[in-house]
Amino acid sequence: KMPQFDYTPPPYTGPPASEILKKRLRYLSPSFFHLYTHPLNLVDGKMQYLFDENGRRYLDAFGGIATVCCGHCHPDVVEAIVNQTNRLQHSTILYLNAAVAEFAEALASKMPGDLKVVFFTNSGTEANELALMMARLYSGSHDIVSIRNGYHGNAAATMGATAQCNYKFNVVQTGIHHALNPDQYRGVFGSDGSKYAKDVEDVIAYGTCGRVGGFIAEAIQGVGGILELAAGYLPSVYSSIRKAGGLCIADEVQSGFGRTGSHFWGFEAHGVVPDIVTMAKGIGNGLPLGAVVTTPEIAKVLTYRCYFNTFGGNPVSTAGGLAVLRVLEKEKLQENAFAVGSYLKERLTSLKEKHEIIGDVRGRGLMLGIELVTDRELKTPAKAETVHIMEQMKEMGVLIGKGGFHGNVFRITPPLCFTKEDAGMSPPPPPPPPPPPS
Ligand code: PMP
Repeated sequence: KMPQFDYTPPPYTGPPASEILKKRLRYLSPSFFHLYTHPLNLVDGKMQYLFDENGRRYLDAFGGIATVCCGHCHPDVVEAIVNQTNRLQHSTILYLNAAVAEFAEALASKMPGDLKVVFFTNSGTEANELALMMARLYSGSHDIVSIRNGYHGNAAATMGATAQCNYKFNVVQTGIHHALNPDQYRGVFGSDGSKYAKDVEDVIAYGTCGRVGGFIAEAIQGVGGILELAAGYLPSVYSSIRKAGGLCIADEVQSGFGRTGSHFWGFEAHGVVPDIVTMAKGIGNGLPLGAVVTTPEIAKVLTYRCYFNTFGGNPVSTAGGLAVLRVLEKEKLQENAFAVGSYLKERLTSLKEKHEIIGDVRGRGLMLGIELVTDRELKTPAKAETVHIMEQMKEMGVLIGKGGFHGNVFRITPPLCFTKEDAGMSPPPPPPPPPPPS
C-alpha cells in the first residue's frame, strides 16, 4: 500500500516509451537490456518517488543504484545547480573557483584524522583509478590487494581490482591480487573476520615480494550483493598492509554519505582510519561527481605532476555537492537512514521467518539486501525468481535493484528521505474531529 504523497508531475509531452525503446535498441549500448522485460520511461522525480510518462508513481527503493541520497530533484540541490549554471558552468583546475574550494573544505570537515586533501573526479571509477595510482606512486610498489566479489569500476586498474567475472572484460592489469571475501553468509569462515584477514597475509606472503602498494575494499559490498565485511577483518588487514608498506583505500562510493545510518562513512563502523577514501554516487545526488580524499603527505605524490581531469571539480557539480552536504545535515538524513533502515530490516527479517525463499536479510541503514535461495540448506541461488519478483514489484509501483555474484540478491538502497510508511508502516490514524462547540 503506497503512502500519500502530495505531488502531481506536469503533463509529459515527449515521445512515448515505444518510440524511445526503438531508438534505445538501435543507437544505445545493448548492455543490461536483456534483463528487463518492460522498460520504464521515467520522466519526473520528486524525493523518493519517480513518475513514468503516464504520471504513474513509483516508490524508488533503489535510489538510482544507491546514488540519490537527498531525494530526486531536492529543491535546495536544484537551486544550487541552477544558480551556479547561470553564473559559470565550467572552469578548470588552472583557475580559482569558490564552489569548488568551499565544497572541498566542507568535505574535508567530514573526514577523520588527517584526511584533508580532495581531488575531484566525475565518477567512482575515476576516483578509484586515481586512488590506486596514488598508492602505487607513494609506496613504490605495483602490487594491490582487493577482495573477491568486490566492485571498484570499469577502467584498467579498477576492473583489475573488481573481482567478479560478470564485470571483467578481457582488460589486462598486472599486480592485482584477490583475497578471500569475508562473506558472512557463504564464506568458508562464517563471521570470523580474523580468519579471512589471515588470507590477506598469505596473499602478501605468497603472491608478492612481501611489499605491496595498497589494499582497496568496500565496507559493504554493493554490486556484490550487500555483503558487510565480517567484524575484526579491516583492522587486522589494515595492519598487515601497512606493515608491507602499502596504503589502505576505503571505497565509499556506495556506503558513504550516511547511507549506512550508524555512521557517515561505512569504514567508521570498523574502527579504522584509511589512508585514502574514494567516493561518488551519493556525493552529488545524481550529478556526475566523484572524489578522492587523502592526507597532505600522500597528496604530495602529485605535486609538480600534470595530473588533471577536465571536468573533475566542475563548479556546477561541486555547487550541487555542497548543497547535498547541507541537506544531509539539515534534514538529519543519516539519522533517518538509521531509524527507517532498522525498522525495514526488522520487517524483512520477520518476512524471512514466513518465506523459505528468503535465505538471508542483511545490511545497515538504507543499504539492505535480501538473498533469495531455492534451498536454504544448499543456498542455491533463486535467480529466475529474483527477476520475476522484481518485475512484479515494478508492476505494483516499487523499484528495487538486484545484485550479487549470482544475481539473486535484492538491493534496497532508496533515497535517505525514505519514510517508515514507505517501508510498510501503516499511516498514522487521522486526527480526532474537533469537539462540538459548547
Ligand atoms: N565502487 C563501487 C563500490 C561502486 O559500487 C561503483 C559503481 N557501482 C564504482 C566504484 C564505480 O563507480 P562509477 O559507476 O561511478 O564509475
